[in-house]
Amino acid sequence: MGSQEMIVRKKTRVIQVGAVAIGGERPISVQSMTNTDTRDVEQTVAQIKRLEAAGCDIVRVAVLDGDAAEAIRKIQERISIPLIGDIHFDYRLAIAAMENGADGIRINPGNLGGEDKIARVVAAAKLHKVPIRVGVNSGSIEKDLLKKYGYPTPENTQALIESALRNVRLLEKQGFEEIKISIKSSDVLTTISGYQRLAENTDYPLHLGVTEAGGLIAGTVKSSVALGILLSQGIGDTLRISLTRDPVDEVRVGFELLRSLKIRERGPELISCPTCGRTRIDLFSLAEAVERYIQTMESPLKVAVMGCVVNGPGEAKQADIGVAGGNGVGIIFKKGVIWKKVTEEELLEVFMGELKKMEEEGRNARKSAENPAR
Ligand code: SF4
Repeated sequence: MGSQEMIVRKKTRVIQVGAVAIGGERPISVQSMTNTDTRDVEQTVAQIKRLEAAGCDIVRVAVLDGDAAEAIRKIQERISIPLIGDIHFDYRLAIAAMENGADGIRINPGNLGGEDKIARVVAAAKLHKVPIRVGVNSGSIEKDLLKKYGYPTPENTQALIESALRNVRLLEKQGFEEIKISIKSSDVLTTISGYQRLAENTDYPLHLGVTEAGGLIAGTVKSSVALGILLSQGIGDTLRISLTRDPVDEVRVGFELLRSLKIRERGPELISCPTCGRTRIDLFSLAEAVERYIQTMESPLKVAVMGCVVNGPGEAKQADIGVAGGNGVGIIFKKGVIWKKVTEEELLEVFMGELKKMEEEGRNARKSAENPAR
C-alpha cells in the first residue's frame, strides 16, 4: 500500500471474496471480467492467466447457462484468483455457480422472481460462504422507481439508490449481509453523485465502475474522472474499469489510477517523454516494448524511456533506470547518471537484461524483508 494520508477512506464493512477481503482498510482491489465464452474453459483460463499476470485481484465471468456454471469448477482448478459468477434472473444458475465453487456472485435479488427463490439463493450463499454483489445499472432500474423518481441524472440519482437499497433489503430480510453494492451509469457525473449519495446511506463495501465507458481513450478518461474523484473522497472499496478492449487493459488502467492517487502501487511506473524535434529514434515502439515488459514486473521501480541522449537522463533524474535513444547510439542511465552506452540495436536487449536483474534483486530484498535471517 502507498501512503493514504491525503485520503480519508470511508469506513465500510469487510466481506470476503475467496482469499481477497473487500472493504474496511483492505487494499482497494482491481477486478476485471472475461470476454470469452465461459463454457470454453481453455480460452477462459488463458485469459484469466493473462489477467493474473497483470495483477488482477478478482475476475468475473458471465454465467449464461448450466454448462457455463459447470465450467466454473474446471476454471477454478487452474487459476489462483477468486472468481465471481455474473448471473441475471435465473436463481438456479446462481445456485449452480456457487455449487461449482464460485467465490462470489453478482445478481439482483429483485430479478429472481419471488421471495422463495431469493431464499434459496441466500441459503446456498450462506452454505458456501459466498458474498453477493447487488449491481444496479441505470438501464435496468425497476419501472415503478423510474416512474416515481425519473431516470437518474447527476441532480437526481434517487432511482438508482432506491433500486440498490431495495435489492439489499431483500437479502437482509433473509438474514444475509455479505453484500457489496454497485450502481453503474454510463454518465460520469451521475456515477459520481450516485456513489456519493449511496456512501452516505450504507456501510456495505462499494464496487466502483462506469458502465459502457467506451474504448481505450474514452473509457480510461471517463473511468478515471469518475473513480478518481470518488476514490479521492475515500469512496470505493473495489473497482472495475470497463473498456471495449482486451480486459488486461482494464487492469492496467485500474492500477495506474490507484497509483496516481498514491493508494496502491504494483510494479514499475513508466515515465516517458512526449518526444520533440530532438528525437532521432522510434521512441513510440521502444516505449511500447518497455511498457509491455514491465507489466510482468512487481518491483515498484521508476522506469524512464526518453527521446534524446542530451536531455533525457536529466529530465528523468527521478527514474531508477532509464533509456535514451540518440542517433545510432543509446544510453542507459540510473538516477540521471549514464550507466552504459550501447548501439541502438543492442539497446533494448541490454536494457531488458538490466531490468530483469533489478527485478530479481527487488524480489530477493522483499523476500529477506519478509523472512529476516535469524
Ligand atoms: S527528452 Fe529529449 S526528446 Fe524527449 S522531450 Fe526532452 S528534449 Fe525532447
